Amino acid sequence: MTTSATATPTGALVFYSEFDDFDTWKRALQAQLPELQVLHWREVTDPEAIHHALVWKPPEGFFKTMTQLRLIINLGAGVDSLVARNDLPLGVPITRITDPQMARMMAGYVLFATLRHARDIPFFEQAQRRGEWAYRHPRNPEDIRVAVLGLGELGARAASELQRQGLTVLGWSRSPRHIEGVQCHAGLDTLDGVLSQADIVVIMLPLTAQTRGLLGRERLARLPHGAALINVARGALVDQAAMTELLQSGHIGAATLDVFEHEPLPADDPLWHMENVLITPHLASVAIPASAARQIADNILRIVRGETPANRIDPSLGY
Ligand code: NDP
Repeated sequence: MTTSATATPTGALVFYSEFDDFDTWKRALQAQLPELQVLHWREVTDPEAIHHALVWKPPEGFFKTMTQLRLIINLGAGVDSLVARNDLPLGVPITRITDPQMARMMAGYVLFATLRHARDIPFFEQAQRRGEWAYRHPRNPEDIRVAVLGLGELGARAASELQRQGLTVLGWSRSPRHIEGVQCHAGLDTLDGVLSQADIVVIMLPLTAQTRGLLGRERLARLPHGAALINVARGALVDQAAMTELLQSGHIGAATLDVFEHEPLPADDPLWHMENVLITPHLASVAIPASAARQIADNILRIVRGETPANRIDPSLGY
């Protein structure tokens, strides 16, 4: 079904991403808005005809000649790389993609990673490599406390899914949240208390001026001995050198890491060869064109009608 044609898009949309397939996105967008001209950035001959930009990490100066821009859509949920730039056109609203399918995909990854630690699978993987039948009695899920840091579109969904597994889930966010069955805490004052109780910590915060380096050496040291760490948000939320040392000493028992301070993770990084670390290359969740195109089309039409777009980010908060 195409988006209701109560308005017709004006101008063209420019696409920039080195990670996403242009033709797939073009098809998905034109299925919603057949009249919308969708251009790969290399095809743009008249920058003033561009009213909308769907971008992931465009190069510096990208927007400079697009003087009629009305909407910037970040091709993903995390806007840290976009809001950190100083070449954004003033007054143009920025939205991000945040759809239920993305939250479901992320919840799947978090569920997999958390249950892997909760069921001591890394211990059995290591025992298998030694050819050892190493029985370890399963823990009662309720006795395993999982702290989910960040209870937004992705974190709230993951926290609910974890709670449904019978785990004890603690949530943490900036402002107070209510999630059925989850013990929610808010504000920096409560963070150390949450961390000190956690057997497994799942990081699902945006990277902002407030959250950069939030999990520094001291905070990581407050985790109970042997706790597991799962980071699916951004590498720079954590002091990676301190985390590596704490993983080497066993204070942090194990980690599942999808994101890193520097990506790709350099070939000589010690994390690659640590038995208690599982690495995936930043793919815990991705925007799915068919469903994301619906919200992009809806926002384009909102702009045409002079309305405020949905999923708008607040550059002053950084998310
Ligand atoms: P949202 O913006 O919906 O939610 C962010 C959550 O973090 C909110 O609960 C917010 O609190 C909380 N938060 C923000 N700042 C602070 C702070 N200073 N102190 C405490 N809590 C804070 O984000 P999403 O759930 O959509 O996404 C989270 C992050 O996941 C993205 O920013 C992105 O970096 C990452 N991501 C990673 C992917 C991957 O493949 N690895 C894919 C997609 C996203 P409040 O509720 O009060 O606003």
